Amino acid sequence: MKIKKLLFFVLSLSFVCLQAQKSSKYNGEGPFNQLIIRGVTLINGNGAPPKGPVDIVVENNVIKSIKVVGYPGLKIEDKNRPKLKAGGKELDANGMYLLPGFIDSHAHIGGVPQGAEPDYVFRLWMAHGVTTIREPSGRGVEFALKLKKQSAAHKIVAPRIFVYTGFGEGAKTPIVTAQQAKDWVHKNAKNGADGIKFFGGSPTVLQAAISENKKLGLRSAFHHAQLSVARWNVLNSARAGLTSMEHWYGLPEAMFTDRTVQNYPLNYNYQNEQNRFEEAGKLWQQAAKPYSKKWNDVMNELIALDFTIDPTFNIYEASRDLMRARRAEWHETYTLPSLWRFYQPSKKSHGSYWHYWGTEQEVAWKNNYKLWMTFINEYKNRGGRVTAGSDSGFIFQLYGFAYIRELELLREAGFHPLEVIRAATLNGAELLGVADKIGSVEVGKLADFVIVEENPLENLKVLYGTGAIKLTKDNKVVRVGGVKYTIKDGIIYDAKRLLKEVANMVKQAKAKEHFKIIQPGMNN
Ligand SMILES: [Zn+2]
Repeated sequence: MKIKKLLFFVLSLSFVCLQAQKSSKYNGEGPFNQLIIRGVTLINGNGAPPKGPVDIVVENNVIKSIKVVGYPGLKIEDKNRPKLKAGGKELDANGMYLLPGFIDSHAHIGGVPQGAEPDYVFRLWMAHGVTTIREPSGRGVEFALKLKKQSAAHKIVAPRIFVYTGFGEGAKTPIVTAQQAKDWVHKNAKNGADGIKFFGGSPTVLQAAISENKKLGLRSAFHHAQLSVARWNVLNSARAGLTSMEHWYGLPEAMFTDRTVQNYPLNYNYQNEQNRFEEAGKLWQQAAKPYSKKWNDVMNELIALDFTIDPTFNIYEASRDLMRARRAEWHETYTLPSLWRFYQPSKKSHGSYWHYWGTEQEVAWKNNYKLWMTFINEYKNRGGRVTAGSDSGFIFQLYGFAYIRELELLREAGFHPLEVIRAATLNGAELLGVADKIGSVEVGKLADFVIVEENPLENLKVLYGTGAIKLTKDNKVVRVGGVKYTIKDGIIYDAKRLLKEVANMVKQAKAKEHFKIIQPGMNN
């Protein structure tokens, strides 16, 4: 008896250890030879209205059928439902909503100064339904390509990754001629990158690099930094063959009618980030007025060139409301101490331009946003492609959470929630050139899905990991939503479990240094 008890104890102990080991390596469930998601309401990425209940059948990561199985409010009859094959998996999603996996079109995989490593960043994205990212340079092409392979092989919890190399990365000497530019572009393609991210350069170099890259069939993104924008704005890029612009710089400059450079104060210094961001906040007012001839001409030409705009509204939001961004409720649980320190006012850290940020700066930025959003919404209305990108890891914006905020800001710009979802899904897939495989829920496409218990069209906040606030019938305050399952390549991830893992990482990092979030300039 005693031995039996001991044996039982040892066995259960090893079981517990095994479980612990397993949980530290949680890598989703699947793939399955067949996966049937039952009874869900489909919100597609193609602008179609919601439809359900449907049963979605996936076989070996390919969507095989999307079958309507009933009517809202009525019990589903079993006889017409797709049958489960041996070894298959059923996911009961009755009453839930299913969307295509989200695409974050501007997603840096953490950073050294932020102390944000892929494990942490990837989980935050996946926990918010992000199944694909475009990495617009950051920690080197080798770093990103290695993770891309691991993700594709399902060795790590990560979205699928498209890698855009920072232009000039790895070049032994600065690129100053057209030939050097072309050589670099060819080498980048050979290295296996998906595209190039530009920041600036001379017109000669940019013309050669952008057009050569396009010839090779690769894609390109451009953050038109202020240093080059007087000679080369968004319109120059689009004409040369750039496929997408990031943020918004270079766009007002393409619409100047009474100047050729921004109205820089004479003591401006680009290395002073309060200068840089404060003056940027006055830039849209210096461009052609909405619906004026110049404004229309630029917009129409960009659309004719099939040019994508990836606005990343959220990353500037602290400029119009610093307190909102720094007091976001998720910081306490999900922001690493290193990341919090990186966000603090500093003359060195990028995006920490709070030397003296007050009412004047915030009001200017609020007006800046209005003009910017007016352009983006009309661009969409005229058939231009707009995507959802977050650019997280700077300016108090946290991976995953900030992506959902981006969706809210597209809504604020005037997008219908279905247009928001399309920006987040199908438009992102088109931007990457993979709309035949991902971006909408269609037979023949891959099984990348987001499943949530609440209707995200009614309230995009239900997509936040922290959920949305709701009062019950009996006056009780609850949280609803938070993505329930993220499915990538037919593998089911428990989104809340991923979030819990992140919370634990943060807890451990805090315990190590007895860290507590304290607001800038306060003592406790
Ligand atoms: Zn960026």
